[in-house]
Amino acid sequence: MKLKKILGIESTAHTWSVGIIGFDGTVFSLVNDTYIPEKGGLHPALVKEQHLNNFMNIINQALLEASISIHDIDLIAFSKSPGLGPILKIGAQAARMLTQLLDIPIVAVNHCIAHIEIGRLMCKIEDPLALYVSGGNTIVSAYEFGRYQIFGETLDIPIGNLIDSFARDVGLPHPGGPKIEKLAFNSNKYLSLPYVVKGMDLSFSGLYTAAKRLLESKDYNKKYNLNDVAYSLQETAFAMLAEVTERALAHTEKKEVLLTGGVAANKRLQEMIKYISAEHGARFEVVPLKYAGDNGAMIGWTGLLRYEAEGGHTILETQINPKERMDQITIPWRD
Ligand code: AMP
Ligand code: MG
Repeated sequence: MKLKKILGIESTAHTWSVGIIGFDGTVFSLVNDTYIPEKGGLHPALVKEQHLNNFMNIINQALLEASISIHDIDLIAFSKSPGLGPILKIGAQAARMLTQLLDIPIVAVNHCIAHIEIGRLMCKIEDPLALYVSGGNTIVSAYEFGRYQIFGETLDIPIGNLIDSFARDVGLPHPGGPKIEKLAFNSNKYLSLPYVVKGMDLSFSGLYTAAKRLLESKDYNKKYNLNDVAYSLQETAFAMLAEVTERALAHTEKKEVLLTGGVAANKRLQEMIKYISAEHGARFEVVPLKYAGDNGAMIGWTGLLRYEAEGGHTILETQINPKERMDQITIPWRD
């Protein structure tokens, strides 16, 4: 029997990504096109322009890599939330066009839930507590009572944004995460920085301001250097993440911990989360890096899970929702 295939479109922010994945979870192809700002942060109008110019090429490349035609696709899935409105609309438009042109079902997917579902698939785990850390999100979540509940989240900027902004301030090009990690590796001199955990939530904006002040101080490059500031920034931010993750772990008593999102690549963060997982007797897994950042395969896979549980969406149900939270959505495929 022919293995059925889903085409998943990721379009929430910097990355336009198309994944083609089988109904059994085999990934046939995954092609990404990522907008990299020359300077400053993500400018929605510029990202939109790049995605509009490239979206069909990326779809075609993904089909080519999978050695199939668009007519071999049985289901379309796309990211409908959360993200930048103008970017979400491109994915929604492409997906709506394909569903009608090919006369196949469509499923609208919440991006954050997709990050957890691809982790469950790739790491072969059942029921993790997830720490999702990326350029646009910082969320501690686990499945309880029919939904992915949010146990902790950032109250202001996401962790990846904190690191990227700091890197930009010291003249390091985007993405700053890997560069700051390298600098931090050269130091073990901790400089005091604000550690802000409020209940189960995190605040990184004061930490960002304080780290910047360290660079402007007269002591900079006399009593301490950039490596020390990078190290202190990472240690503080990651310890905050570890604290909230650990408390959520103690509360939920989950036996698995999943680290996902682009910042999951960071070895020091992995080490800290691995440590707290072990303290609670929980298995620790990092999503393979190819699938940790934003990608179309996770959207395709999550679309399939929903489709198998309750069928596709109507066109009217495929409206984008830039601010949707993952805990607003019922999850009919678990339990
Ligand atoms: P995403 O938004 O999931 O695509 O992930 C992109 C984010 O991951 C950016 O903020 C990067 O700076 C960050 N990132 C990538 N590699 C690392 C790393 N080794 N350490 C920290 N952050 C990283
Ligand atoms: Mg993401």
